[in-house]
This record gives sequence, structure tokens and C-alpha cells, in this order.
Amino acid sequence: MRRHQFEAYLDKVFDWTAQVATMAEGRQNPTHPWPKVFDAVFLASACQFGPVHRVEAECRDGVLHKRIGPLSEDTVGYALQRQSPEEVLDLGCLVARQLKRNGVLRSDWARGRVVAAVDGIEICSSYCRCCEACLERTVARKVDGKLEEWTQYYHRLSAVTVVSTPFPIFVGIRFQKSGETEVACSLALLQELVAKLGKRFVDILVADALYLQTPFVRALESLGLEWVINLKDNQPDLAAEAERLTNRPADYRDANAREELELWHLPEVDWPVADRLIGVVKTGRVQNANRVAVRKQDDRPIREKQPAPIVSTNYYATNVDLGAIPPFFIHQLGRSRWVIDARAFQTITTDCHLKQPSVHQSGALVVLTMIRVLAYTLAMVFYFRQVRSHARTTPPSFCQMARQFGYAFLTLQFDSS
Ligand SMILES: [Zn+2]
Repeated sequence: MRRHQFEAYLDKVFDWTAQVATMAEGRQNPTHPWPKVFDAVFLASACQFGPVHRVEAECRDGVLHKRIGPLSEDTVGYALQRQSPEEVLDLGCLVARQLKRNGVLRSDWARGRVVAAVDGIEICSSYCRCCEACLERTVARKVDGKLEEWTQYYHRLSAVTVVSTPFPIFVGIRFQKSGETEVACSLALLQELVAKLGKRFVDILVADALYLQTPFVRALESLGLEWVINLKDNQPDLAAEAERLTNRPADYRDANAREELELWHLPEVDWPVADRLIGVVKTGRVQNANRVAVRKQDDRPIREKQPAPIVSTNYYATNVDLGAIPPFFIHQLGRSRWVIDARAFQTITTDCHLKQPSVHQSGALVVLTMIRVLAYTLAMVFYFRQVRSHARTTPPSFCQMARQFGYAFLTLQFDSS
């Protein structure tokens, strides 16, 4: 039987089938071995089939019938529950190392550095579903007009994503444990990734203001990482000092058709609670956006564009030793973080069904989510490296490609019959 182009690519670049086969089996004497269950979930996720009952349906008599064959939702759930997340993280690290070796992590703006963002995201909040790994909180909820206190169950995870590349690449995720803060969870993930990938895998880490805390910053530096973190009022003394010192004309100005930028650079600002000096860059941006306004003329609505500039001010704290590099680089680093909120998290939660609370049994959701994220990352790599770059006409969208993945599995069925 002819190989599916996505699987053939994964085998060529990552020796995929052999790597999946080396994963340890989590169950004893299973009828369906782990690589079969893994392939079913992984390929279904690459085709953007979300819930596990859909995986079952596609394997029974859908596009994965020939490739996988019948596999029940219960079997998938039980296998995911028994599988160690460590094994999937290792597979993700193997992918990341190979991507770096193949030059996929190179960028045209990051001056030879690999820049990663760390951030948290919430998935699967509900009032009834519960598993051992669920986090809990009390929320006020209106029932029949009366305000009641309800226990809500949810999951949060931390993600480390390379953002200096033309498209965001997830390196690893970790579920937040009960009693653990987002920052502690992210730090544990970073420590795990550095232990597996080595100290120079990522050069610079970018994060939002929540992460500007003395112990976190110290821990980053002991991992050999440079950092750029948004500075806001959660560090009031430092924020006030930075504001006072930039109360003067900007050091740098730039304007183009899309935006005007002013930038202030403070190479050494005293950060009293950390008992040290750090660099601060402040930027003021005016984006030349438009909005559509409707006015009436002779009782008919006329739509017209009106300028609606978007003004934003940002402060970035950093330990990056700029040397001869212009401080504009810090602005670029700070901005790079937005791609994960604006693109990666959105795509992954909607197209890849990350918020679908299927197989919400103890442990199953963790491994399921890790496989979904890995499938998203590799489908994205395939999309940029094979589909977009090889397209002679307008390339399909990422979602169209996922649909074509499904059709291709059907075609393979016809080939072999
Ligand atoms: Zn749960």
C-alpha cells in the first residue's frame, strides 16, 4: 500500500514509525498495541477530528478504516490513561532536536538566537466532569434567577513555544498540578526541557508580566537563559522607576505606513527587591488602523473607512546583553510573544479541539492533549515546509490541508483494493 504523504514525510525526517514503536507499553497484554492507538489519535488529530468518539467512528468506517481499523473509544481512553506522559514529551523533544538540526528553527530577525515563549492556557472547564488531575474553584452562578456557589472543574497547562520561526513551534506542554501556580508549572516544564534538550537549545525566553518575579528570573539564569519579560504594576517600584526615567524625549523613532514607534532604552535600572540592575526598554506605538463607519445619505447607508489609530505603551525588563545590537531588538523580542496568543493558542484550541473534554478520565486527558499538540506541530511543519513552499498556485489553508489528509487516507484505500 502506498504511504500517506504526511506519514512518508515523518518517516523520512524523523524516522517516525520506528520512534513510535520504541515507546513503552503502558498496559499489560493489550489487544491493540500502543503504536496502533497512538497512530489513531495522532492521525485523527492531524486530520482535525476532535473528540475520541470521532476517532472511534473514523477508525470503524471512516477515513481511518483501512489505515487503523476498528478501535473503540474505551480502548483509546484506557490506553491513554495508562500511557506515561514522559514518553510523549520525549518524542516531542526528539522532534524539536531534529527540527533544530535541519535548520527549521532559524529565523530572519532573531540574530541567530532561538527565542521561545512560555505561557499558560486553560482548557476544559465544566461543572460536572471531573478527573483526578482536575483543578477546582468556586464560582458564582445564576440558577433560576438565584445566585449559587458552584464548584467548577478545569485544567490549565503551560506551554513552551519557539516564536522566532516563521510559524510557532510547540516544544513541550505540562499540566498544572493542584496547588501549583502557573509560574511554578512553567518553571518545572522549562527545567524538564533543558534537562532533555540541553542548555543552548533555546537562547532567549519571553513571557508576560506575571513571570517577572525574582525567584523565576534567577531560575531562568541558572538554566543559562536570557529573558525579556513584560514589566507592569506587579513590580511597582521597578515600573515607577522606569516610568520616571523615560519621562523625556525618546531615544529612537521610526515611522512607516503602518505604524509609528518611539523607543526608550535604559541599560541599567535598579530592581530593589531582586537587589540587582536590569535593562528596561519602553515603547510607544501608534498603529495606523482604520474602522468602518456607517453614515446615512439620502436615507441610504454609506460605509466608509475612518482612521482609528491604536495607541499602546509597553515596558520590557530584560537581562539580554545587547552589546552592539540596537535596543529595537528587545521590542522585536517582546512582540514575538504575541504570535502564541494570536495564532498558536487560537488555532490549537479551535481547529485542534484542545478544549473538547473527551476521555476526561484520570490521566487520559494529559496524554491525549500532548498527542494533539504534537500532531498540530508536525502538521504545521509539514504545511510550511512541504505544502506552502511547494505550491505553484495559491496554497490551501491549514484547515483545508487537514481535510485533504483525510481524503488521502480514503484514496489509499482505493489504491490497494
Ligand atoms: Zn479533569
